[in-house]
Amino acid sequence: MSVATAELVDYDDVIAAYEPVMGMEVHVELSTATKMFCGCANRFGAEPNTLVCPVCLGLPGSLPVLNGAAVESAIRIGLALNCDIAPWGRFARKNYFYPDQPKNYQISQYDEPIAVNGYLDVPLDDGTTFRVEIERAHMEEDTGKLTHLGSDTGRISGATTSLADFNRAGVPLVEIVTRPIEGTGARAPEIARAYVTALRDLLRGLGVSDVRMDQGSMRCDSNLSLKPVGAAEFGTRTETKNVNSLKSVEVAVRYEMRRQAAVLNAGGTVTQETRHFHEDGYTSPGRSKETAEDYRYFPEPDLEPVAPDAELVERLRQTIPELPWLARKRIQQDWAISDEVMRDLVNAGAVELVAATVSHGASSEAARAWWGNFLVQKANESEVELEVLPITPAQVAAVVKLVDEGKLSNKLARQVIEGVLAGEGEPEQVMADRGLALVRDDSVIQAAIDTALEAQPDVADKIRGGKIQAAGAIVGAVMKATKGSADAARVRELVLAACGQSG
Ligand SMILES: [Zn+2]
Repeated sequence: MSVATAELVDYDDVIAAYEPVMGMEVHVELSTATKMFCGCANRFGAEPNTLVCPVCLGLPGSLPVLNGAAVESAIRIGLALNCDIAPWGRFARKNYFYPDQPKNYQISQYDEPIAVNGYLDVPLDDGTTFRVEIERAHMEEDTGKLTHLGSDTGRISGATTSLADFNRAGVPLVEIVTRPIEGTGARAPEIARAYVTALRDLLRGLGVSDVRMDQGSMRCDSNLSLKPVGAAEFGTRTETKNVNSLKSVEVAVRYEMRRQAAVLNAGGTVTQETRHFHEDGYTSPGRSKETAEDYRYFPEPDLEPVAPDAELVERLRQTIPELPWLARKRIQQDWAISDEVMRDLVNAGAVELVAATVSHGASSEAARAWWGNFLVQKANESEVELEVLPITPAQVAAVVKLVDEGKLSNKLARQVIEGVLAGEGEPEQVMADRGLALVRDDSVIQAAIDTALEAQPDVADKIRGGKIQAAGAIVGAVMKATKGSADAARVRELVLAACGQSG
């Protein structure tokens, strides 16, 4: 049950009396080809229980084998977060019984994580940054997915049937845990959102995950406690689980601040528990929080320790790209565009796509025009994100090149791009198959002009008599006859020349 809005403390009153302390735990699924400890494909959206084997189903006698690519991704995440990389560390078994985990334990890193002691300087809307300290980033395997049927909420309580899909069981995860985030005051909800946004952008820039919060490949648990202003001791925290959008991160933190303040103001104590986040903006109690002792951790005997050598770590360090928000600042300067234009491109998710198109040889103006206008429109029509449109920056750059070379008009180029989006192949292929090449042969255009002038002798006479604006009708007829594949400016030149006018 939610606390009624009337019982929540007014936000300004929360800030006057209390200091919020946050802690963020973000799980990210790595986009490796295969799972963490077996060769099953790591893919979202397959038929249930089709991506499974004895290892990830926890069948007796099966043995895990560590995925080296997942370890490299975890190290790169650690390096990007300015962490120290542990030269040696063991996996542990985290024991618990739950039907989404067929082994009855999860292989995780407990007290020997791959990456420790880092930080992320999080950019805020006002142009300043806030440093969030990272306690650790560790590797573990994901659980399967349960679907509960028969209850109103889709949760287990009241359900009549539960379905288990183990496709996700054993998918590599990295969990990134912050140190307590203090000193934010009233900006706590904003900083929580900004941190998760920055982390998402960072991970996307590393190419280690598709970071889709809507599909669960990035999941955020937000911890929050309040302490009286000036107090040294932290209050009791709650952990709001699986907050699944950036906006919700902000909403969940704000709600918990107001709810906990109400509990404390009434002389009560905050219960240490996990809480569920509801899309309409409140949290409700889940289970009381387990402690580490409950999990009976012990070192995983079936796996060797992870011991990345210094050379590997240095090689991976060379692959860490510039921070995406710094890259954007530099890009904005390179492209010489206003804050507003840049913001539109960022909001459309177009910056990286435009940059990639430029790297394939297109001008930034042309690349921006295609991604920022025509393709955004196509994405909106299909109700998908720009980046999942079935066209690559290389293909857009190829279309730009065809326009620059005079082989396509902008109008024909739009049709070529539509063909690429429809799965008709590469731009050149679409152009050939659809017969979209711009007519470069003046004799073809000339023949169409002669036909048009003969068909409209009165118009032809007007042009010959000096009314050159009448040429539009002939140009239109020629464009129609050539199905738009002629260059209209060239047609106009030839029409005027045919009628003895210089234009
Ligand atoms: Zn498997």
